[in-house]
Amino acid sequence: RFDVSAPALSRLFSAEPRRILRAVENVSFSVQRGTTFSIVGESGCGKSTLARMVVGLQRPTQGLLDFKDIRRADGSFGPPRVQMIFQDPYASLNPRWRVGDIIAEPIRELKLRKDESETATRVGDLLEIVGLSRADASRFPHEFSGGQRQRISIARALATEADFLVCDEPTSALDVSVQAQILNLMVRLQKEFGLTYLFISHNLSVVRHMSDHLAIMYLGRFVESGPAEDVFGRPRHPYTRLLLDTIPDVEKPNRERRPMSGEVPSPIAPPPGCAFHPRCVQAVERCRTEAPALRREGELEIACHLA
Ligand code: SF4
Ligand code: MG
Repeated sequence: RFDVSAPALSRLFSAEPRRILRAVENVSFSVQRGTTFSIVGESGCGKSTLARMVVGLQRPTQGLLDFKDIRRADGSFGPPRVQMIFQDPYASLNPRWRVGDIIAEPIRELKLRKDESETATRVGDLLEIVGLSRADASRFPHEFSGGQRQRISIARALATEADFLVCDEPTSALDVSVQAQILNLMVRLQKEFGLTYLFISHNLSVVRHMSDHLAIMYLGRFVESGPAEDVFGRPRHPYTRLLLDTIPDVEKPNRERRPMSGEVPSPIAPPPGCAFHPRCVQAVERCRTEAPALRREGELEIACHLA
């Protein structure tokens, strides 16, 4: 399994005047190998910051993130082999490079194959694994659609032989019809190669069918986490219910949907007490002054005075 623990991570929000933002607080979770752990929350909740810090693309200004790959029953561990798949398949591929070179770069860099001919074979294999063709190696990114570019990004991530993939909104820049294809590809690759995903999304309906576990994040903290079927089947936190209410329900299409109410407060000056209280329909007096602790109940964790 993979263990991530971040008691408190801050990052510089603006240099002048120097302002530090508490981006992530009291977050810790384990991801079983070969499964998907999703983190869901609205924009600004800190999920992308957490993702970038897990991959090492961003360092906290203050605080330490502990990320271990626990390999054996005796608890021995090593550094995780981790890669990121980005939201925007347009910005994340170098437009001046041929696709073959984009995918070959980590193979050459990490010396994963002994020569250029083996590297070329591996690149062709990877293109086929993600549903493209070997001949695509000689084309440029602009010749591909958004969905195809995301397939190229996935091939490049696989080229590193990483087994832990952090996917930050990997389908949200794509047409709805293409989103399902990419998600299905990710599920298939997970089964085939035993991949582990940390999946970041603002959209509960996207993560619904691919998560084994998920955490709901609000202003830098997990407010509810647990096995996906429990969180979807019986959401306990008022914020989780609010997020679920905003997604279409295929079984009850005529059900009235409550619109998402209220703005996300600024993470620079989070409200006192429970940070969710200004938007919570169930808030009681205590919620304005006292922050609820994250309590564990079996496999579930929840931070709410009323749950
Ligand atoms: Fe709502 Fe209070 Fe629970 Fe926060 S602690 S989610 S404000 S009921
Ligand atoms: Mg984001």
